[in-house]
Amino acid sequence: MYTVTLIPGDGIGPEISDATMRVIEATGVSIAWDIQNAGLTVYEKEGNPLPQRVLDSIRKHKVALKGPLTTPVGTGFRSVNVALRQILDLFCCLRPCKSFKGARTRYQDIDLTIIRENTEDLYAGIEFEKGSDDTRKLIEYITQSTGRTIRSDSGITIKPISVYATEKIVRFAFEYARAHNRKKVTAVHKANIMKYSDGLFLETARTVAKKYPDIQFEDRIVDNMCMQLVQKPELYDLIVLPNLYGDIISDLAAGLIGGLGLAPGANLGDEIALFEPVHGSAPKYRGLNKVNPLAMILSGMMMLEHLGEKGAAKRLEKAVASVIEEGRYVTYDMKSDPDDPSAATTSMVADAIIEKLASA
Ligand code: NAD
Repeated sequence: MYTVTLIPGDGIGPEISDATMRVIEATGVSIAWDIQNAGLTVYEKEGNPLPQRVLDSIRKHKVALKGPLTTPVGTGFRSVNVALRQILDLFCCLRPCKSFKGARTRYQDIDLTIIRENTEDLYAGIEFEKGSDDTRKLIEYITQSTGRTIRSDSGITIKPISVYATEKIVRFAFEYARAHNRKKVTAVHKANIMKYSDGLFLETARTVAKKYPDIQFEDRIVDNMCMQLVQKPELYDLIVLPNLYGDIISDLAAGLIGGLGLAPGANLGDEIALFEPVHGSAPKYRGLNKVNPLAMILSGMMMLEHLGEKGAAKRLEKAVASVIEEGRYVTYDMKSDPDDPSAATTSMVADAIIEKLASA
């Protein structure tokens, strides 16, 4: 019996979490869920979207499964998702994007893995608000030390990229390549423009790559990478990136395999692992039992692998693949017409997977 922290999330989180727990139970792996709520609803009740009890639970059990959490845009509290990654030092965001036969997409046979640095870059949360005293002082300092001016009505976000965190994520990418028999690592950056942050990322990646002569290494500028992935995704294998590019390219890669409804993810630290779908809380679908639970179910599959339950993970992946290929119980986002009345509900997808697992 394993104990795992479950953060159901908000928006569509609770319904896809429920579907995922049911499916995981059907694999026969016995899990006691320590259910911990966080996010918007908890903020409204407790004044803190990420109470200490949630962090204590994850630190105790070392493994967590999480539904999406809403972040207010522009104002309000900072992202709980980002806070969890920073506070728990979950330095790596691993997002495999693999084609399933029968999924509605323009591309076949995609097998890309996105490895995103998770703690630094423009996501570090170091921001200076327009008009504040600190912002004025920072602008003055920048003008004095560089001779460059910044308009006084600017807001500023800082982009730190360190050798320490870059080495860690790039080493992870190469070790992952070896462990999973992958051939190539591509580092993505904008080092031509941001020489001291992305330039450092690239230089550090090149240095780490030298220690792994058995794995190919190359780099791409992020804008070119976007085009290349749309035109020739088959040329790429593992892609390692700083935080912001990693976020954007993850969604692009999810688009290649049929959308966010199919893209799972893991946030990994040295000891703690937190699994969650790539997608957000899609608030407009909340409570409708309509959205695709597969990204979260596949995140659950990654969690089973992490727990060492490789057989159960394989059976679950096979059951999911079979449901997708049959196409009878798939949600609206996997239909060519999103209004197709034959689209399955969230719970119907879970039921279909459970039936496959039972008959396997
Ligand atoms: P989103 O991922 O919630 O939605 C983007 C699009 O994908 C929408 O059209 C949505 O309907 C669709 N979609 C998402 N999940 C789906 C699913 N399971 N099945 C079918 N369709 C699905 O992104 P957004 O609208 O930019 O963000 C909404 C909220 O989620 C924001 O508050 C954002 O901050 C938050 N968010 C949270 C996480 C996380 O918890 N890790 C990640 C991304 C966004």
